[in-house]
Amino acid sequence: MSKTLKDCRALDAQDPLRALRHQFSLPEGVIYLDGNSLGALPKTTAARVAEAVTHEWGQGLIRSWNSAGWFDMPQRLGNKIAQLIGAAPGEVVATDSTSINLYKVLSAALHMAAEDAPTRKVLISERSNFPTDLYIAEGLCRQRGLRLVLVEPEDLADALTADVAVLMLTHVNYRTGAMHNMKSVTAAAHNAGILTVWDLAHSAGAVPVDLNGARADFSVGCGYKYLNGGPGAPAFVWVNPKHADRFWQPLSGWWGHAVPFEFTPDYRPAPGITRYLCGTQPILSMVALECGLDTVLAAQPMGGTAALRRKSLALTDLFIELVETHCSGHGLGLATPRDHAQRGSQVCLTRQTGAYAIVQALIARGVIGDFRSGDSSTFRQAQDGPCSGKTGMPDILRFGFTPLYIGFEDIWNAVEHLKQVLETAEWKKPEFNQKNAVT
Ligand SMILES: *Cc1c(COP(=O)(O)O)cnc(C)c1O
Repeated sequence: MSKTLKDCRALDAQDPLRALRHQFSLPEGVIYLDGNSLGALPKTTAARVAEAVTHEWGQGLIRSWNSAGWFDMPQRLGNKIAQLIGAAPGEVVATDSTSINLYKVLSAALHMAAEDAPTRKVLISERSNFPTDLYIAEGLCRQRGLRLVLVEPEDLADALTADVAVLMLTHVNYRTGAMHNMKSVTAAAHNAGILTVWDLAHSAGAVPVDLNGARADFSVGCGYKYLNGGPGAPAFVWVNPKHADRFWQPLSGWWGHAVPFEFTPDYRPAPGITRYLCGTQPILSMVALECGLDTVLAAQPMGGTAALRRKSLALTDLFIELVETHCSGHGLGLATPRDHAQRGSQVCLTRQTGAYAIVQALIARGVIGDFRSGDSSTFRQAQDGPCSGKTGMPDILRFGFTPLYIGFEDIWNAVEHLKQVLETAEWKKPEFNQKNAVT
């Protein structure tokens, strides 16, 4: 039998992570299912940023690079992130954007491959990877005279051939929520002599990650999604220590220099991950990122990422179950894998038409998710659901579940709203059918 509202309330009452929700300042009446795109605001952030502005900047002025610890923030925050991704202290820096960090690590990986295996001329990724990852890869391939080959996830194993230099994947797919097995994919790549680059944008803070356990080579991730660092928050970068000293990444700025304050005219890379820094960091954004990281680290005494994962799976299971029992007959399909081992912390529903308007109608009711178009020729039909639209690709209604602040009753209420939007055809109203720039 399907769960009731009473069951959902009982699950909230038993939830060991329930208290963590109070770390966030969420608007009254909002059920926020978009923390996979922009994490919620921690209650500490506004005051902490104000203090950094008025006290550290206003009073401390340039002295704060030392006295307020500004200069070491990339490493200090990197050490906090390391705890969430199976990295050791000193292996991660918080810096720049995901796109820029990807340029650095992909360059390093391609450079290493060119030295070790010059006949390998192919970079492999997934066709449904996030566009910026593919665009950065495309730019680098043009620069280096390499070929970018995009495959479907089911064709990945066969694509790991002797001409491949690097495999670049996003651990959890932004569009479908499907998750790769990092350990087995990395092992398969290594067996074929291929280096791996993992993007953790939809993983860090949401699902357990063990970069060292998987023996991955390079990794990047995002600060403003599940890490709650705020819009445009600094991202992060990890390089396997066995590769870190081998190559200077191409954005060889002074923050990555061994002794930046000697101001020497020639570049000498710092040892380890510090060489993956480029220039002066956005300190106010770093301050906000640290508040976000602390909200995730607050789960450590309660079981950390394993406990977050348990709750996340319970939330996504419940959402799927309630949508299937309460909203059947309305043309919704499921793009996210049912198998826990293959599911990130989001659920993506498919619909041939009206997905955008349904999401808008839900947002008007305070249930915030987002829409991802199926128009793109790069997106293949999900396993289930008929397929008859103009391109054959169903659109996606995407819902992210942040176990830090989403509860079981929220799920019940969100599905209740979805049911009403569908049953009353509320989504057909003209105001829900006009597209905004950011979806
Ligand atoms: C969100 C996301 C990004 C974002 O990159 P920016 O440089 O922050 O714009 C990159 N890659 C993936 C896979 C993402 O999900």
